[in-house]
Amino acid sequence: MLSETLRMKKGFILDLDGCVYLGNQPIEGVGDTINVLRGEGKKILFLTNNSTKTPRDYAEKLRRMGVDVVEEEVLTSSLATAVYLRRLGYGDCFVVGEEGLVRALEENGFRVIGVREAKNARYVVCGLDTSLTYEKMAAACYAIQNGAKFIATNTDPRLPVEDGYVPGAGSIIEAIATATGSRPTVIGKPSKRIMNIALSRMGLKKSEVVMVGDTLKIDMAAAKGMGMTGVLVLSGSTKTEDIEKSRIKPDAVIPSVAEIGKMFGRNRRSLA
Ligand SMILES: [Mg+2]
Repeated sequence: MLSETLRMKKGFILDLDGCVYLGNQPIEGVGDTINVLRGEGKKILFLTNNSTKTPRDYAEKLRRMGVDVVEEEVLTSSLATAVYLRRLGYGDCFVVGEEGLVRALEENGFRVIGVREAKNARYVVCGLDTSLTYEKMAAACYAIQNGAKFIATNTDPRLPVEDGYVPGAGSIIEAIATATGSRPTVIGKPSKRIMNIALSRMGLKKSEVVMVGDTLKIDMAAAKGMGMTGVLVLSGSTKTEDIEKSRIKPDAVIPSVAEIGKMFGRNRRSLA
């Protein structure tokens, strides 16, 4: 039974977009689910591949939606990238990305350099950049030609928006990869790199944690790659018929995160 499996877990990793909210709209019942999980003593980590904003921005957004959260419970692909690079060693970074990525690198002691200095970079760090220019892409190419290590926050090809989708980080990264003939080291989901950073932040083992998210190729692939329990929610980009077609099979499928709150609530009532 899913409720028994979840009861045994000590931690919940929750994807954000499509799982906790859709754009600026919270998923119904998400605030209650978080409160119920906290009441059960579960550790919570919100995990997003979106590199454009800081954990503080996301924590504020979640609080505005009635979700009780502190900044330390949010892990973005930007922050994970900074943590990963710290282990590789300090060096100047040329960034194709936005504020969230620049801030994460600078707060972790990296110097972020501009296009003129780019060819001396130790790392080229790429994420979603909605102010992308040809000049920035050219600078990234020069740096990689000169030996900079090519790092990608995430490779999501598309970014879902209200009326469809727009190019995601993966589409930008693919352009640079095509030009340079060099493949990036990827940090975000489904990479084990971000999942291991998530687990170490929670202080838990993979067997003690469940991954909840709305995508098969990103969230459920991340869970399966780690050997973790993966719960798919249908409140985001995946439809029931997609699951049959996919070779990635989640351990459980639920309509939305509200179901998790109800599961624990029901159990508590039946024990009373
Ligand atoms: Mg999602």
